[in-house]
Amino acid sequence: MTENISPTEPPTIQPCMHCQGGRKRLKTATLMTWLGDDLITVPNFPAWICDICGHRNYDTQALAQLSLMLNPDAGTPIQTPVKPAGKKPTANTPPPA
Ligand SMILES: [Zn+2]
Repeated sequence: MTENISPTEPPTIQPCMHCQGGRKRLKTATLMTWLGDDLITVPNFPAWICDICGHRNYDTQALAQLSLMLNPDAGTPIQTPVKPAGKKPTANTPPPA
């Protein structure tokens, strides 16, 4: 089997639907989003940014991955007993003189 499967490369330029004249290129931007009541920022997030009007769309695939990571229900791990990682402040700490 020598089937030459070339990965379909994603387009690196998209037309801008905002100004309808610019071209969007895949760059990185800081994504700010709400996670419950917490505002989180994700630096260097893939985003399509228009070279004319600056309009940006965050990369949908990256957004999907991010939501998977952030959604606490997405990958609920098996319940394992949580052991404190060897940090026992009261065990070997001498009392203050
Ligand atoms: Zn534009």
